[in-house]
Amino acid sequence: MGGWRKKRAKIAMENPKVKTVRSKPAGRPSKPAAKSAAKPALQKAKSVAKKPKLPSAKNVKAAGKTASPRGKRRPAIDPFMKAAIKAARKGLGEGGIPIGAALVRNGKLVATGHNKRVQDNDPVTHGETDCLRNAGRLGSYRGCTLYSTLMPCYFCAGAAVQFGIRKVVVGESRTFPGAPEFMRSHGIEVVDLDLPECYEMMEKFIRENPRLWNEDIGED
Ligand SMILES: [Zn+2]
Repeated sequence: MGGWRKKRAKIAMENPKVKTVRSKPAGRPSKPAAKSAAKPALQKAKSVAKKPKLPSAKNVKAAGKTASPRGKRRPAIDPFMKAAIKAARKGLGEGGIPIGAALVRNGKLVATGHNKRVQDNDPVTHGETDCLRNAGRLGSYRGCTLYSTLMPCYFCAGAAVQFGIRKVVVGESRTFPGAPEFMRSHGIEVVDLDLPECYEMMEKFIRENPRLWNEDIGED
């Protein structure tokens, strides 16, 4: 029994030694020293990288504030509405009223158009009518959706009703109410996306060109 105790004692003595021996190689001067030297360097790099973030925890809120409006201001816009907005901006670049339209049939863009009242000295070339003209003779408007950056006026709403267009998607109706109920009463589905891109563009134009705008909507 005494021999076993001695052996156990030896084992017990050896084990810590083994542990210390194992830990010693890990603590060998050359490689681990290099590692331990490298790690703090990395940690420093991380902490440096984190430092701007941590103090900016205050800024995180600010960043969040700037990020969320960006998200609100720039939602994914329907590509066909994008085409209509592009047409509106083209008109604006020509010195005209920034109202654009796009005609889509069965998911494919057929044509775009924009208001040319100023450019052509023409009171009946609205964004929607210019678009319908550019589309040419389609025969049937079945499966067609008319996009417009602004709620269609009675004139253009009448054209949509006349041609049997079943769906009208608009960018906004804040700056001009248009004739949504007239279209709906004729079975047209009217979708108002209420896009900042559209109403901000019109608000700016109306603010800068009140006379031109009043002429366009038939007000003295
Ligand atoms: Zn119109």
